[in-house]
Amino acid sequence: MPRAGIVTVVGKPNAGKSTLLNRIVGEKLSIVSPKPQSTRNRIVGIRTTNDVQMVLFDTPGLLNPRYSLQESMRGAAIAALNDADVVLHVVDGTDHVVEDLATIAMLDRPIRAPVVVAFNKSDLLSPARLESLAAERPTAAFISAADGSGVHELLLRLEQMLPESPFLYPEDEVSTQSVRFFVSELVRETALEQVEDELPYSIACEIEEFREAQSPVYIRAVLHVERDSQKRILIGAEGQRIRAIGKSARQKIEAFIGSPVYLDLWVKVLPNWRRDRKALNRFGYPLPQDRSR
Ligand code: GDP
Ligand code: MG
Repeated sequence: MPRAGIVTVVGKPNAGKSTLLNRIVGEKLSIVSPKPQSTRNRIVGIRTTNDVQMVLFDTPGLLNPRYSLQESMRGAAIAALNDADVVLHVVDGTDHVVEDLATIAMLDRPIRAPVVVAFNKSDLLSPARLESLAAERPTAAFISAADGSGVHELLLRLEQMLPESPFLYPEDEVSTQSVRFFVSELVRETALEQVEDELPYSIACEIEEFREAQSPVYIRAVLHVERDSQKRILIGAEGQRIRAIGKSARQKIEAFIGSPVYLDLWVKVLPNWRRDRKALNRFGYPLPQDRSR
């Protein structure tokens, strides 16, 4: 019987989650679907080997003390914890204090799934530090997402913890990234804040490009409106408003993903997109028949 299940990855900003996920799913993250995700769909990668399928969920922003998550984002992150067969807690091994996951996430209930702690950046740790951490946390894994050491052993251990089950996705299924969805929500929300109620529901945000492997992270976002007059409102006199939206959205995204961001923000007119099923689908809105998902 094959094994298959969900591994939810948590960790503070900069712990090395993205680096690790890229290593685990390999090339696949770079050919991620550009389509934004619904909040319930938090898959960041799917790793299928001969007889094991690991579906990786993320929990963006959950452990970022500088950023208070919107209700919907926190809800999605907690749901990802609850759905997990195994929780992988990535900890920067160079951090001085090692806290318990339930405490940093401020959970009101204990996590149901077993939690595996992986101390990352072990390439930066002295033998003495490695030894004392191992004594303190005897069940922890030691890895370097950057050079790959320990990652194979960690994967074998996670795979053994997954339940016996048929595969959950077709073998060639590519991953998707919920971070994109949240980023698009942050941009849209910021735009709505800045126009008060001049443009109630006519703004959709689409993330056209998201290059995470560089610093600052490059994000090209487009705000779609339905009419030229709406575009003029969003841009404002001499572009003042769109610059203010861009600046505020960039700050929120930086706090959310925990790294510097270059936000390339555009406004485009897509006539009547709200009545266009293709456009709704492209912007990640649930179509009427799949609202229950
Ligand atoms: P995230 O915020 O948890 O997604 O962290 P990232 O994957 O973006 O990594 C944060 C920083 O730590 C980046 O500059 C990485 O290159 C670096 N990093 C990640 N893993 C390792 C590691 O194992 N060793 C070293 N030396 N650096 C790492
Ligand atoms: Mg990251």
